[in-house]
Amino acid sequence: MTPRILIVEDEAALVTLLRYNLEREGFEVSEAMDGEEALLRAQEDKPDLVVLDWMLPLMSGIEVCRRLRRMPELRSVPIVILTARGEEADKVRGLEGGADDYITKPFSPVELIARIRALLRRAQPDLTSETLIFADLSMDLAAHKVRRDGRAVHLGPTEFRLLHYLLRHPGRVFSREQLLDAVWGRDVYVEARTVDVHIRRLRKAINGEGEADLIRTVRAAGYALDRPSAA
Ligand code: CA
Repeated sequence: MTPRILIVEDEAALVTLLRYNLEREGFEVSEAMDGEEALLRAQEDKPDLVVLDWMLPLMSGIEVCRRLRRMPELRSVPIVILTARGEEADKVRGLEGGADDYITKPFSPVELIARIRALLRRAQPDLTSETLIFADLSMDLAAHKVRRDGRAVHLGPTEFRLLHYLLRHPGRVFSREQLLDAVWGRDVYVEARTVDVHIRRLRKAINGEGEADLIRTVRAAGYALDRPSAA
């Protein structure tokens, strides 16, 4: 299982930075730019953890926090609050309002990720199992390394995310559109053909000389990670 993180932040540049770093660590990321959107997204995506900015337009972070706590399925979701430097009183109020941790801006993504991992380990120990395996293929999420039959496989960031997604749902067939949504994000405009390009690169990287092709192309439907049928 890949932990899903909801980022609630109105500063677009920070969202981009966090999304990039969290996805690189193997998290699935969704985002909201204000409190209203955050509550909708949270209900829809059921995140495993929420990164919540304190200063938001329309509805404050603390109010979002309180409302999340009132939703039965989100009552115990870990929440990390982002505060500005020196707002000591805000931190206290944030923690009283139901947040689990806070981090002061500016912060390093590495530090935030460490906090996120710690909270997730506490909340859901099975979510943090960090190696995904299929046949002789393995992906170590902590080290960000992929191996096939013991040999290191080098993947670009998109191929890594693509394989990560497929590894989480082995055997399932995904259409190009589904893969675009899951791997590129629903707000990004990319042509469906782009998926074919990255699947081709992924195949080339994981299928060594004489090795079976672990990606199945399903005509008119899409792709699946699958054990090749004996042929
Ligand atoms: Ca803000």
